[in-house]
Amino acid sequence: MVLPVYVYGQEVLKKKGRDIVPEEMENIKKLVEQMWETMYKSHGVGLAAHQVGHPIKLFIVDTVQLHEKEDQPMGIKKVFINAEIIQEEGEIAIIEEGCLSFPELRGKIERPSIVTIKYYDLDLKEHIETYDGFDARVIQHEYDHTLGTLFIEKFNPLKRRLAKGKLDKIRTGLVQADYPTRINRK
Ligand code: ZN
Repeated sequence: MVLPVYVYGQEVLKKKGRDIVPEEMENIKKLVEQMWETMYKSHGVGLAAHQVGHPIKLFIVDTVQLHEKEDQPMGIKKVFINAEIIQEEGEIAIIEEGCLSFPELRGKIERPSIVTIKYYDLDLKEHIETYDGFDARVIQHEYDHTLGTLFIEKFNPLKRRLAKGKLDKIRTGLVQADYPTRINRK
């Protein structure tokens, strides 16, 4: 089932995600299935549970699909539960990001190029892994969602000012995505 993507302006996107507990894994597995469907429907490379209305520490990433389209390394397809970034290092990379909760808005953002993350998979097995390049970038973006942090908060001041009109349009539903969304129409 494809779920509507919660768009900028929805309260849930700003909430700090809570930990997932073992007792709810059956529901989490179902939610993850729906999140994959939703992410592919909207042509995303990552999706956080916040973006489908659940403020919990859960996100999914699939950069493998880019491998066929672009000259990217193999990529990853993974579910991240209760993730915690334990280190960010390396050179600062400037990469343009987009977000399914912000249709038609993109912006260059600076982040460290290497990230080490601790997380649990769907079998609740713990992993500590290090990523770089585009994989690191998608992980950093999705991880921010679990903290209630949005990518526009990382825009530089000029870009933020330039984006204001677009943000108002997104928030009020004047920008239509080509996938199902949930918007506050006031
Ligand atoms: Zn996002």
